[in-house]
Amino acid sequence: TPAQIGISGLAVMGRNLARNFARNGYAVALHNRTPARTRELVDEFGHEGAFVPAESAEDFVAALERPRRLVIMVKAGDPTDAVIREFAPLLDTGDVIIDGGNAHFADTRRRELELREQGIHFVGTGISGGEEGALRGPSIMPGGSAESYASLGPMLEKIAAKADDGAPCVTHVGADGAGHFVKMVHNGIEYADMQLIGEAYQLLRDVAGYPPKEIAGIFRAWNTGRLDSYLIEITAEVLSHVDAATERPFVDVVADQAEQKGTGRWTVQLALELGVPVSGIAEAVFARSLSGHTALREASRGLAGPTPRALGEAEAARFADRVEQALYASKIVSYTQGFHEIAAGSAQYDWRLDLGAIAAIWRGGCIIRAAFLDRIRAAHDNRPDLPSLLSDDEFAEEIAEAQDDWRAVLVAATEQGVPAPGFAAALAYYDALRAERLPAALTQGQRDFFGAHTYRRTDREGAFHTLWGGDRSEVEV
Ligand code: NDP
Repeated sequence: TPAQIGISGLAVMGRNLARNFARNGYAVALHNRTPARTRELVDEFGHEGAFVPAESAEDFVAALERPRRLVIMVKAGDPTDAVIREFAPLLDTGDVIIDGGNAHFADTRRRELELREQGIHFVGTGISGGEEGALRGPSIMPGGSAESYASLGPMLEKIAAKADDGAPCVTHVGADGAGHFVKMVHNGIEYADMQLIGEAYQLLRDVAGYPPKEIAGIFRAWNTGRLDSYLIEITAEVLSHVDAATERPFVDVVADQAEQKGTGRWTVQLALELGVPVSGIAEAVFARSLSGHTALREASRGLAGPTPRALGEAEAARFADRVEQALYASKIVSYTQGFHEIAAGSAQYDWRLDLGAIAAIWRGGCIIRAAFLDRIRAAHDNRPDLPSLLSDDEFAEEIAEAQDDWRAVLVAATEQGVPAPGFAAALAYYDALRAERLPAALTQGQRDFFGAHTYRRTDREGAFHTLWGGDRSEVEV
């Protein structure tokens, strides 16, 4: 029997996706540049379902039912183009190539256009959840044509994670690169979430004075409330882990230089182009980069800081509650910023993205899955023209309640010299948005002074310039 789907690229992700399809009853054709990987998969997991291994691209394509659906799960970048070049000449009109790698959405747009000219559907698909998600159910963000989703959707719905209400964590996100774009912003939000959690940890440790094991307990408690999420859950696991070799907390033996593969950076780069203030995501990317500047950090270690002040037991417990408020409020802001970027991308590329549906498919399977996302979905569904998450009554009320503690945490962080760039950027964003007047008026004055860039007035239409070098009278331009 012909295979209903094929997977080329059988490293951790491809192999687990193939097993996921097979476990759901689909016959899966298998292909990998190095055939040994294909054989290994069949040897180890052949009993899990119907696999059709192929060594050559020709055999792989011939094994698929028509219209063919083939997933490529290879290293993003040039390898993806190489694999497309290999397969495209073997395919027919109406066939579907699904790229499940972490492609940049601009590459996906280019590939989609090229393949569309040949009558081939190209579905750039964001897949989140890591290895485990690929096997047990990831969150899936397919772009491409609506037509391709009609045949592909039901299969993806089967293998996707299910949210608590049973809904599969997959939807047709939008045309061409929309799926990879949304996956990119997902990762940007993931960076911000991780940074905020990191700051909460550091404050609990350096301001409140708790050891990692107790902080793990605090995170575990938070995970039973409104912060309930995968990232909070694994934070407790990592913090309670003890290094076997040294018997010290694991978090104390890991080098404190965070690495990155680039999706957070892409999110910020695009935000700069779109003119969207994603300051929380940017701070998260910069914090990782700062951590890696070891020589600079070494050279700066002797710089003056404040005198540390130890908190009493009750004060520390109170502070921990405040950090929960600060973390929650900052998290609302970083999702606000991320969804703003999604809305801006949607407008720029005419994707007509459904923000509520995007929040809904992140409720399960992906790294940022959280109880909270159900409320983001509801906020967008209840009011499709919602200007921002901060305009949602419930979120606005929660921030109103959290703000005193949020500010107090930043005061303590500043006084004690503990960096909290994510919390601070989030609060600055919040305060800037609600401000009656911003110093942007002064900026405009300066720009007009040195560059005659002109300004608009609050009381009249038009563009104006002050003759700064002359009698300082105003002219309309
Ligand atoms: P890798 O990113 O490590 O890629 C390895 C696979 O790519 C192998 O199958 C390899 O074949 C193949 N490959 C590399 N170069 C070429 C080439 N020039 N021609 C043909 N095949 C090539 O694998 P992962 O499973 O980690 O990830 C696959 C994709 O999924 C990536 O794009 C990744 O960014 C993305 N992704 C990964 C996640 C994760 O948690 N790891 C999560 C979500 C997405 P060979 O065996 O012959 O070397």
